Amino acid sequence: MPSDFYICVLGSGSKGNCVYLRAGGVHFLVDAGLRYNDVEKRLHDIDVSTKDIQHVFITHEHIDHISGLKKFAKNNTATVHLNAQTYLRVSSELPAHYPVNVFDTAFEINDIRVTPFAVSHDAVDPMAFSFSFLGKKISVVTDTGYATTLVKEQIKNSDVMVLECNHDEEMLKKGIYPWPLKQRIAGKLGHLSNLQAAQTLAEVTSERLRHVFLAHLSAENNSPKLALETVGSHFSNLQLNCPALIMTHQSRVSELVSI
Ligand SMILES: [Zn+2]
Ligand SMILES: [Zn+2]
Repeated sequence: MPSDFYICVLGSGSKGNCVYLRAGGVHFLVDAGLRYNDVEKRLHDIDVSTKDIQHVFITHEHIDHISGLKKFAKNNTATVHLNAQTYLRVSSELPAHYPVNVFDTAFEINDIRVTPFAVSHDAVDPMAFSFSFLGKKISVVTDTGYATTLVKEQIKNSDVMVLECNHDEEMLKKGIYPWPLKQRIAGKLGHLSNLQAAQTLAEVTSERLRHVFLAHLSAENNSPKLALETVGSHFSNLQLNCPALIMTHQSRVSELVSI
């Protein structure tokens, strides 16, 4: 069995999210929120074809996580994994008799242990995922208003993490968004700020945590520089070793990490 365990973020931000992973020769995606043509193109950039993708894990039904699903399912046969509530919301995107795995607990695909866990977000039953393979663990967490105790427990002992750094709290406060939208984003069912992400990381970090992808940045209320600085300076204030921080992008593939 091949021992490869790779991850890169094909695209991330408020306009669409899609993460690529490969474990033991099994190719899979978390979310399908980029246009199908972009998924095709960006996979091609890393020498992968959409036909190689065997599994797609859906976190929740918001458009920036499923906008490419319909066309993906029309052109491919990768199994779509999602929970029952989310399935009810997105089943219309899938052709009849499309292969679907409706999960309610952790499960295995070959030697990959898939652990879905609930996040705090204004969708019907939003999830995040951890993938464990040959003693290594990668966690993907976006779209959560705060890091609940459950989230923090689940992401402990990760070797690599994708973590939401949605907004800078000051930029959001002073920005042009209407007040109800600001409240939604900053609320418990909204999105993690840079500072919340930094605090969460500092709480769960360990010797094992080597790489963190900063994801789901708002184009209006954040900048890559601010996100990187906020996390970096939080770690240095606490005199903690900071894992390598990797920026993700809305319009291009991130760096690829192999563990
Ligand atoms: Zn969402
Ligand atoms: Zn989102």
